[in-house]
Amino acid sequence: MHYISTRDKTLKLSAAQAIAQGLSRDGGLFVPETLPSFDMDFIAGLCGLSYADRAVKVMKLFLDDFSEEELRLYAKAAYGRPAYDADNAAPIRMAGDDTAFLELWHGPTCAFKDMALQMLPYLLTASLKKTGEKKKVCILVATSGDTGKAALEGFRDVEGTKILVFYPSDGVSDVQKLQMVSTQGKNVGVCAVRGNFDDAQNGVKAIFSDAGLRELLAEKGYFFSSANSINWGRLLPQVVYYVSAYCELIKNGAIRPGESVNFCVPTGNFGNILAGYYAKAMGLPVGRLICASNKNKILTDFIETAVYDRNREFYTTMSPSMDILISSNLERLLFMLSGGDDALIRDYMGRLAASGRYEAEPGIMQRLRESFSAGFSTEEETAGAIGSVWKEFRYLIDPHTAVAYNVLKGYRERTGDKAVSVAVSTASPYKFCDSVLEAIGEKADGSGTELIRRLSEATGTRVPAPLEDLDKREVRFNKTVEKSAMASAVLEMLGIS
Ligand SMILES: *Cc1c(COP(=O)(O)O)cnc(C)c1O
Repeated sequence: MHYISTRDKTLKLSAAQAIAQGLSRDGGLFVPETLPSFDMDFIAGLCGLSYADRAVKVMKLFLDDFSEEELRLYAKAAYGRPAYDADNAAPIRMAGDDTAFLELWHGPTCAFKDMALQMLPYLLTASLKKTGEKKKVCILVATSGDTGKAALEGFRDVEGTKILVFYPSDGVSDVQKLQMVSTQGKNVGVCAVRGNFDDAQNGVKAIFSDAGLRELLAEKGYFFSSANSINWGRLLPQVVYYVSAYCELIKNGAIRPGESVNFCVPTGNFGNILAGYYAKAMGLPVGRLICASNKNKILTDFIETAVYDRNREFYTTMSPSMDILISSNLERLLFMLSGGDDALIRDYMGRLAASGRYEAEPGIMQRLRESFSAGFSTEEETAGAIGSVWKEFRYLIDPHTAVAYNVLKGYRERTGDKAVSVAVSTASPYKFCDSVLEAIGEKADGSGTELIRRLSEATGTRVPAPLEDLDKREVRFNKTVEKSAMASAVLEMLGIS
């Protein structure tokens, strides 16, 4: 099985090569040349397995240069205890007969990024070995909050890796900061950068393109890599939970085998929902994939009008992980829907880079609309959804999940579609205590850790273990640097001077 670049399909790589390299040198993303497929017997066979074993069977279809034994080892470490302490890493929770929430936040950082970032380090280090890379990988991350912690937890104490995270000194919440600076592990480093997220991000970009630094690191046996969501090793683990959710719905009697199910996905970078499309294209009985946006509704507009236009106002919302104007993984979908037209994708992405805008062809849009619907939620609607789900089902959802739930409701009203539908739940409500408290009519003043206690008291729900007693944990990292000193901070954290 080969992987090709969305911008040059003559480039053919093995899975290990694609994962080791991350982004193609032509700027494109790696995609499987042909999609594997499965039938209902395969799905039925998965239903009796643990989440980790489901992951092995699904990922193996894409990774023919990895053995099942290898993948089993990784999946046990990624989705077993102590990373996940539920037996199923991605359980579902019904709200009525026809709606399920797929909870993707039972991992170490209480958000869905864990589903991929718990697995990526194993796939990446194995891929580096398979491709003969001798140097250790140093993962650099600039984070606005969630990705940094998820990457720290995924890579911590993984042999052959170092993980260094920069966060903006005025740009992350109390809880996010405490989570990061108290991270355990021998191979981790965390450092604040004076400024906002762009300062941290630009600083990391400058380090990536600093040839002198790269040479110095190579001498010491390191090379830089990133953990962002364009790596195939981050996307692939996400296909698993769509198939797993389908098994859970069969097991609890919500659907009959073969019945089709809709998924509504709170979307930012388009990675999560794209994994759902892969699952559908491979044979999972999926009806509609409903793309849910917040007030930054660039994807809703694109799916309705065929015009992708990032020249618009950027809003900060209570679902910050979806505050995105460039959804990188959309490139993979367009490539597939165009029948692998790499020249066309080069043209679109060139236009996007040059003018911030492109218009997709009618043929592509027609195929896209055969599978996808779209909608967005205003801030009021999002808060309203948190409140109404709490009132009706005594179930707490976070603002990202609430965006999906509200969009699903709108989709049903608009279309009359009665199919069983899954709202993909991407974060624990305890990660966004202030918005959640307000939405259920409680006061939300006080520090981040106080609000965690308050939410638990007000609702009688339990604080997830990774967020308990955060303020009592040892602070291991308290350095703040200027943007200009980020490169020396890297060397210091690596013990190179
Ligand atoms: C990253 C994230 C999303 C968006 O997922 P994409 O794969 O970028 O579309 C949604 N919700 C939460 C909580 C996230 O962290």
